[in-house]
This record gives sequence, structure tokens and C-alpha cells, in this order.
Amino acid sequence: DGCNGNGAAAAAGVVPEIKFTKLFINGEFVDAVSGKTFETRDPRTGAVLAHVAEADKADVDLGVKAARDAFDHGKWPRMSGYERGRLLSKFADLVDQHTEELAALDGADAGKLLLVGKVIDVPSATQMLRYYAGAADKIHGEVLRVSGKYQGYSLREPVGVAGVIIPWNFPTMMFFLKVSPALAAGCTVVVKPAEQTPLSALYYAHLAKLAGVPDGVINVVPGFGHTAGAAITSHMDVDTVAFTGSTEVGRLIMESAARSNLKPVSLELGGKSPLIIFDDADVDMAVNLSRLAIFFNKGEICAAGSRVYVQEGIYDEFVKKAVEAAQNWKVGDPFDVTTNMGPQVDKEQFEKVLKYIEHGKSEGATLLTGGKPAAAKGYYIEPTIFVDVTIAQEEIFGPVMALMKFKTVDEVIEKANCTRYGLVAGIVTKSLDVANRVSRAVRAGTVWVNCYFVFDPDAPFGGFKMSGFGQDQGLGAMDKFLQVKSVITALPDSPW
Ligand code: NAD
Repeated sequence: DGCNGNGAAAAAGVVPEIKFTKLFINGEFVDAVSGKTFETRDPRTGAVLAHVAEADKADVDLGVKAARDAFDHGKWPRMSGYERGRLLSKFADLVDQHTEELAALDGADAGKLLLVGKVIDVPSATQMLRYYAGAADKIHGEVLRVSGKYQGYSLREPVGVAGVIIPWNFPTMMFFLKVSPALAAGCTVVVKPAEQTPLSALYYAHLAKLAGVPDGVINVVPGFGHTAGAAITSHMDVDTVAFTGSTEVGRLIMESAARSNLKPVSLELGGKSPLIIFDDADVDMAVNLSRLAIFFNKGEICAAGSRVYVQEGIYDEFVKKAVEAAQNWKVGDPFDVTTNMGPQVDKEQFEKVLKYIEHGKSEGATLLTGGKPAAAKGYYIEPTIFVDVTIAQEEIFGPVMALMKFKTVDEVIEKANCTRYGLVAGIVTKSLDVANRVSRAVRAGTVWVNCYFVFDPDAPFGGFKMSGFGQDQGLGAMDKFLQVKSVITALPDSPW
């Protein structure tokens, strides 16, 4: 109605106030040692949003030193788990109180929908933080069955300084996905947000300090991958690295960890995930799910359902409805509540996606809808659907669906697994037997049956194959930040 329309128009183009643009080291906002800054841009217009202090090796050294001191001599790893959990809960409360502002920051920095930020990104992040806050006083060892006159038990101790390197597609969720279990375990962290989206991480550092998290426990060093990122992965005083990003960079991170101090790494990498729709599916429901799976967050999701396999009996109907659904997916300003999809995060991604689309056409795939920029300015791309796709192997990381037809369950299992990735898979069917069989046969870290993008702090999330290893979410995610120590004590006087 007129009222909503006016509201949406008024909201369009809003740029939130940007309060924090410096590095956060040892509890203080500071300039980079070099004095350098870099630009972060608003993908709605391409305009500069802020100049952010640019961390390089010298700054990472300072951040790691602060984290090292806080770990080796500070109270964070030594306070009770209960106390740590209490501070983390307070941190979560403060994040909740700033939901609107934080969703707007990610909206302007990453082109993400403001509304989704408010109802999904920020609330899921605080749910995550509270989940691990509650786990901080439940880190148990075991009593060991040691033979002879000995007693044994194991301790799970924080590993030390954790380096955290994250991508730009979910700046808020990625931050809390890694930082929450690390802090609950008693580690201190040095976080490098993506260069495209450094703003909300700096705000979180500020809120953690307000909550009473001691100085040096959280350090945030925005900067580029080959400089600041590489300085973290090669640092001799960083004890583990938790990374989410591309498979290509994941490989560099492992190499760098191996060449320095053999620090363990955990890698959440790319995907080319199959969504498999069987003949017995409700076609309208399946079309909606497939649209969400590839066009939500502009396809900038590691778990996007970018390969859609549809069984032959419903294929024609599905294709027709999927094209209509894509055409009804509104591209526009992410601050407008009626928008379904904002702009790609930056010029580079925008150009990369368009290049993949051209490549698809030249490879003989048929473009059914979309395929072009969706606006004269900004990095908007139309929801795009291809059929007759022969090769769907590369992760596009944009709003591009490859639709393919299949006949049998065996055939689609083979096709679904025919990729070097293995992050997630989706299945739509009413048959329990088919759902069970495919769930087990598919080589992926998460399988969604008759749903998609259902994330929960209690459901481990991570890849098979070249999608990485070392899961996020679930209590097991704390293992990345803990190490096990066996203590064996002689019992010369034991009667048993
Ligand atoms: P990217 O790998 O280019 O960058 C990710 C982060 O790594 C950034 O902070 C970047 O600065 C840093 N980095 C780059 N080079 C580095 C180096 N040499 N040493 C250390 N750090 C370095 O990825 P991206 O383009 O920002 O994000 C998109 C990719 O992330 C996609 O492949 C996507 O699938 C993946 N992703 C995976 C998940 C998951 O959970 N599996 C989630 C989101 C995104």
C-alpha cells in the first residue's frame, strides 16, 4: 500500500553511521602502524562507504602479541567457565540491543537485505554466542582406564591464540561462528574480517569490550588476505587458524601453517551443492525451495543449491514455474523491505558472475531467464537460470541456477557426487525410502530433506572432500580450540 511504499522509498539509499574504522588491538582502536587505510564500498552505488585502517604484518604482530599476553598471563583462560559464559551472554545481550544498526552496517557494506539481517543474521549470531556461552562451563575430560597401579584422566585445555579469517558473504554470522566457540573454550583471538566487509567485526569488538571481555582477548585486524591474512597463518605465536573462504585460499592457509609452526587449521570452503527434486514432490513447494537455495543472499552462499536436478516426470512443469519464480524475485535496494535480492558484494564478484554467465552460454547451455546486470548502476544481477548444462563444476557464488533432468535414483546419486566439493545437498521427495537412501549416499556434510538452509547452533556444519574439514556449530566445534592432555599418576598405595 501507499504507506509501505513510501517507507520503502524513504529507506532506500540509507547509509548507516559508521563509528569504528580503526584496528582493534589490546582493547583499543588504533591506526595501522603504516598509517595506511583502504576503502570499503557500498555495492548499491559503488561509492566509498569508509576508509578503514589497513593491517599488515606489523599490526598482526601487535594483535598476536596482545592475544598471546592475554592468554599466557591474563585471566580469560583462567576464569571459571561459568564466568566466561556470563560475559559472553552479556556480549550477546549487547549485540541484540544493536540489531538494527548492525544489520544496516552489513547491509551497506555487503549489499545484504536489511530485513534479513534483522531477523536472521544478527539473531542467529547471538543464538550461536549464547549456545557456546552455555557450553563454557561444560568442557569435560575423561577418566582413563589405565592398567596397573596408575590413575589417569584427561583435561581439555584451550589451545591458545586462535587466528580467525572470514569471508564477506555473512560478516556477522561468520564472526560469531568462529569467535563464539573459541572464546568459550578460553582461547584469545585475532580476527581478520574480509576486506570487502570489515565494519561489523569492529563494532563487535567494541561491544565485547563493553560487556567486560578483557583487553587482548579479541583483536580485529582488517586488511587484505595476502598481507594481514598471510601474517596470521604464518605466525609462530598463533596456535590454530579457523578459516572460511575459498578452496584456493584454504590450500594456501594449510601450506603456510605447515611451513611455520605446524599449527592445526580448520577450513570451511566452497561448494557446488546439488538440490535433487523427485517426481513425487509438490512442484510449487520445490520451485520455491530451489529459488531460495540459489537466489537467497544473491547466491553468495557456500551452501547455495547451484545444481538443481529435477526428475523427468515433473521437469517441464518445474522449468516453467522456476522461470516465473525467478522473474518474480525482486532485485533492488537491500534496504527496501520489498526487495528479495540486493547487489553482489563488489565489482570483482559482479564481473566474475557475468563472466561465468557468458562462459555458460559459449559452452552451449541454454539461458532461460536473466543473465544480465539488473540496474544501470550498482552491482545488481538478474536471477539467472540455465538448462542443458553439461559441466557444472565451478562455484559461481552468484544468482545462477543450473537446471538438469534425471531419470533414476542411482543416476542422480552419481551425478550429485560428481564434483570435488561436498558441502551440502538438498532432497525433495515424499518417499521416506528415497530420502533415506539419498541422504546416506550423497557425499556432503549436511543434507536437507524437504527444507534448505536450516542452520542451527547444535547441527554440525562443514564439508566433505574439497569443501574442507573441521566443523563449525555443534559442541564439537569447540574441539578446534581445545587440546587434550592425559594426566597419569602413580598409585603405589592403591588397594586395587
Ligand atoms: P577468499 O578465500 O578469497 O577470502 C576469504 C578470506 O581469506 C578473506 O578474509 C581474505 O582476505 C582471506 N585471504 C585471502 N587470501 C589469503 C591468504 N593468502 N592468506 C590468508 N588469508 C587470505 O574467499 P571469498 O571470495 O572472500 O569468499 C568466497 C568463498 O568462501 C567461496 O568459495 C565460498 O564458498 C566460501 N565460503 C565458504 C563457507 C563455508 O562455510 N564453507 C561460507 C562462506 C563462504
